[in-house]
Amino acid sequence: MQIFKVGGAVRDRLLGKPVTDIDWVVVGATTEEMLAQGYRPVGADFPVFLHPKSGAEYALARTERKSGRGYGGFTFHASPEVTLEEDLIRRDLTINAMAEDDQQNLTDPYHGQRDLEARVLRHVSPAFAEDPLRVLRVARFAARYADLGFTVAPETLDLMRQLSESGELEALTAERSWKEISRALMEDQPQVFIQVLRDCGALKVLMPEVDALFGVPQPEIHHPEIDSGIHTLSVLEQSARHKQPLTVRWACLLHDLGKGLTPEEEWPRHIAHEHKGLKLIKVVNERFKAPKDCQELALLVGQYHTHGHRALELKASTLLELLQSFDVYRRPQRFEEFIAACEMDARGRKGLEDRSYPQADYLRGAASAARGVAVQPLLEKGFKGPELGEALKRERLKALKAYKENA
Ligand code: ATP
Ligand code: MG
Repeated sequence: MQIFKVGGAVRDRLLGKPVTDIDWVVVGATTEEMLAQGYRPVGADFPVFLHPKSGAEYALARTERKSGRGYGGFTFHASPEVTLEEDLIRRDLTINAMAEDDQQNLTDPYHGQRDLEARVLRHVSPAFAEDPLRVLRVARFAARYADLGFTVAPETLDLMRQLSESGELEALTAERSWKEISRALMEDQPQVFIQVLRDCGALKVLMPEVDALFGVPQPEIHHPEIDSGIHTLSVLEQSARHKQPLTVRWACLLHDLGKGLTPEEEWPRHIAHEHKGLKLIKVVNERFKAPKDCQELALLVGQYHTHGHRALELKASTLLELLQSFDVYRRPQRFEEFIAACEMDARGRKGLEDRSYPQADYLRGAASAARGVAVQPLLEKGFKGPELGEALKRERLKALKAYKENA
């Protein structure tokens, strides 16, 4: 048998990027031979094994054929006769379809190295269209390598467009989609992921609620970029520039969905878009079965981001309601993430990327004033149950009034 390094590890070494996980392909072996050498079988879908010591993934060379809709509709064929070239041709992009042996001899039948140099993301063969997940993968790689100048080849974008229009994207499971979306959002240029999805018509299928923001104007005085879609991309860009966690990036993407529902005659104003957007945020959250912390933060940011911007003008009682809504006493981290998302929203505007955001420290101060109210003295006064809750609220309101006066 022969063993080759494949996929991302080869690509990233040639790009001079750090290689974290290595995928291996094994040519000329049977499952029985792999088991006899101590490899542990994994995955019910494909003949993939884990190395007995390193735990790295080793896959038998295989060919694939589409036999139905969606990902379930794949049949594969693995046998010692399948060649390296046959295995490589089933892969998504030319830059992902290179292999190398332990002497770093490159096998590159589909000219991945040429495309690496030309900074092009190009599909390997027409079989690309057999797995709709590849649309998301290409968009994710575009986001990852945007800084290096990579773009999607026009003929690949055409195929992605055909896949988007064919209804195949709808066959993707929430789990597979979320894995790509969440990884893409954590790249350095996550807005490129959304932009590429939009360019090929996939955004309209995957997240019509986000797609609907493009072409919707906002008041120029607050939004020099005017377009709500462009604004959303900028907010996402800022969230990556400021190294925000996934929860914040997800909330940034969804914070303004309500603007897509404003009747045209009300443009460019978006009265109550925060509240109107909540049902859309909920739908998108559930469509991709986003993790609970992402779902929660997106809804809270959707509802309260304009409160964040007006923090310094809020009455003490409104500040208190805001803090209560976030349960800031038990969940201080979530409130920090809210503040971060508001700040990204404020900076994700043309020409205002480096503005200051005094609201952030002001909100932090308010949270710590409210959190500073001690329970013990109230217990000692004999408060309990709902009365204790009321007393706590009164004391917190007092603390916030004092905070406002001194701020
Ligand atoms: P990463 O750095 O994100 O791990 P990668 O290229 O290694 O990038 P993997 O998801 O680890 O991506 O997949 C390993 C290889 O398997 C890819 O380089 C590609 O050749 C192939 N591959 C993975 N998923 C698909 C797919 N859906 N369609 C076609 N080829 C795929
Ligand atoms: Mg990999």
